[in-house]
Amino acid sequence: MKQSKLFSKTSKTRESDATSINHDLLVRAGFVDQLMAGVYSYLPLGLRVLYKISDIVRQEMNKVGSQEILLPALHPKENWETTKRWESMDVLFKTRSQTKSEYALGPTHEEVIVPLAKKFIQSYRDLPASWYQIQVKFRDELRAKAGLLRGREFLMKDLYSFHANHQDLKDYYEKMKIAYLKVFSRCGLDAIITEASGGSFTKEYSHEFQVETESGEDNIFYCKCGFAQNKEISKVKKDDKCPDCGKNIEELKTIEVGNIFDLGTKFSNDFKLLFTDEKGKEDLVVIGCYGIGISRLMGAIVEVHNDDKGIIWPKEVAPFKYHLLSFVDNGEKIYNKLIEKGISVLWDDRDVSAGEKMADADLIGIPNRLVISKKTGHKIELKKRDEKDVKLIDIEDIC
Ligand code: ATP
Ligand code: MG
Repeated sequence: MKQSKLFSKTSKTRESDATSINHDLLVRAGFVDQLMAGVYSYLPLGLRVLYKISDIVRQEMNKVGSQEILLPALHPKENWETTKRWESMDVLFKTRSQTKSEYALGPTHEEVIVPLAKKFIQSYRDLPASWYQIQVKFRDELRAKAGLLRGREFLMKDLYSFHANHQDLKDYYEKMKIAYLKVFSRCGLDAIITEASGGSFTKEYSHEFQVETESGEDNIFYCKCGFAQNKEISKVKKDDKCPDCGKNIEELKTIEVGNIFDLGTKFSNDFKLLFTDEKGKEDLVVIGCYGIGISRLMGAIVEVHNDDKGIIWPKEVAPFKYHLLSFVDNGEKIYNKLIEKGISVLWDDRDVSAGEKMADADLIGIPNRLVISKKTGHKIELKKRDEKDVKLIDIEDIC
């Protein structure tokens, strides 16, 4: 892609209303635009990142045998009354049609997927089943001011698994923990599996995937041996002895990027999602629910991977692999050669100063910068965004 054709422009001045690093950098570098608090438009660069993250999530969810679907965002009030969450869920956006019917804008999808599952799950032969979607969610958040971390409209992957018994759910739940860790490490993040309560969803347990960063709104108690509990539920305190290994417990500030829940039979009971077992006896289906905040993940990556010059995208989620900066006439020739080789490259073909191109490349944060100038002759200078050193390479070496 030619940078001169990108309609989004970079900006040097710090966003006056930015309350977080991710908002400031993503807006200034032209990835997103804020419409109102907690609601963002994704511009060409930002959408590429969102798709990269979504594809990683898709690959890992498909590997655990889940099937992708897409559910509606507009839900009938009755389904939310059935689960008693029409009144009890404070973040539920409610809306009314011209015929005075009431609807919810989906903050999560148990109220849609469980009635759907009822149409396809009748017998033990239909179990286990696992379905997921990547979709916009709506939540009436009181404090939507941390950029992409807390949206009122945001992108989530939510997956629901259906099982004949608790043991089967537990086995799948453990597989999902591993799949989640893979997703986050491919996104360049070390996630800590943290014990938490079920929140508004369930009395059963849940596990959060927390990423350490100063800007995080969550606090967890953590020990390097792997013990981690969310502060909200934890019986331990900072500097207590770890119940697992006896070392000192640390307190960390974190962002919750994912959450998996054992929902038990709460929702199957509400909607009477039953199946017939091998002996012909009817029983309630056991359900698990697994969320990843895709757009929050994009914000979290920026919170973790940045410096005073801008964003430093981890390679698997970067909008492009290379950023080509040309200060001589043969820029187009090199760019075309790279494109012919199928290489993902953003070419800064703008008629602006070298200093401005360099500064913008650092702000946008593509992992590999290529420079062609009089100084580089027939060679190309390669610099990684997170390293100081440059090296001279041939175009044939670029892949
Ligand atoms: P929080 O405690 O941060 O409000 P939550 O526990 O209510 O989040 P879940 O219902 O567990 O959120 O949603 C699954 C995932 O969706 C979360 O782990 C998070 O990554 C993401 N998420 C939740 N709320 C938001 C939001 N308002 N904006 C962006 N992402 C969100
Ligand atoms: Mg949660």
